[in-house]
Amino acid sequence: MKKILALLLSSTTGLIILLLIILVPVLMILDFFGANITDGYVEDNMEYAEQYKSVVNKNVKNNNGYVSLERILYFYLEDEKLTFDEIYSDNLDKESKKMLPISDVCELSKYKNFDVCKDENILESGQINEEQEKPFSSPIDFTSSSVTSFFMEQRVVFGKDDVHEAWDLANSAQTPVYSTCDGKVESVSFTQSQNVTDTSNGGGNQIKISCEVNDLTYQVWYAHLYPNSAKVSKGQPVTKGQQIASVGTTGYSTGNHLHYQVSLDGKTIDGMSLIDFTYENDNTFKPNIDYPSPSLPSYKN
Ligand SMILES: [Zn+2]
Repeated sequence: MKKILALLLSSTTGLIILLLIILVPVLMILDFFGANITDGYVEDNMEYAEQYKSVVNKNVKNNNGYVSLERILYFYLEDEKLTFDEIYSDNLDKESKKMLPISDVCELSKYKNFDVCKDENILESGQINEEQEKPFSSPIDFTSSSVTSFFMEQRVVFGKDDVHEAWDLANSAQTPVYSTCDGKVESVSFTQSQNVTDTSNGGGNQIKISCEVNDLTYQVWYAHLYPNSAKVSKGQPVTKGQQIASVGTTGYSTGNHLHYQVSLDGKTIDGMSLIDFTYENDNTFKPNIDYPSPSLPSYKN
């Protein structure tokens, strides 16, 4: 050991190596590398993406409810022996199917002594600590869909880096897509007549709906829709759970899926966090019985 130290101290390269040996663990303790939780989402999340998608898929498919990656990492980064599955489950209220307030989770004996569970850290964390509003229903039957990309996921699409400000929900072509809320159709743009990828055509066939809930106006964007599948037209009112179109792979898309994106005051937000998993629309809703077809004149409202 002494010999190695002497050797390291005797040359510049050796000194640099020694410095790195000391510096790297210090930076790791300071969480200089890896995930950085900012403003409601996780930066540098690529290394957790597959693990997270696996757990979110299981739970969304089974209608258990939604827990964000940010919340999982809040605990996981303190003890990497924990599994995503158990953290997900610990953070869900089984009855309301909502993510539990952080202070409730911190009361569990396994987390009680965690640094992140100290009062001041909870306060600083910006983690949800109260009942959340869940004004939306699901945009697609989750039981048959797969989450292929989550909100703010860092990924590579067609060889390009991209941060995905939405949820991608894969399902077979022509699977019904539903409005998540009561609102008004802002736009219906169906420019593709074939269900194929067109990398120059962005969201492909798409519908935008705005919904006013508790004095907040959400914009919901449904993209890559199947050609000629629009069941609503511009200006028309829609109700929560009403079928508006069906799944396709038009535009900048690698396969049949729904791109579900929500924004509030012009800023994209996590659309999955708004969904009420106790609302039984995805399995029981009978779509398109007598809704007006898009060829009818649009409602004045
Ligand atoms: Zn997408």
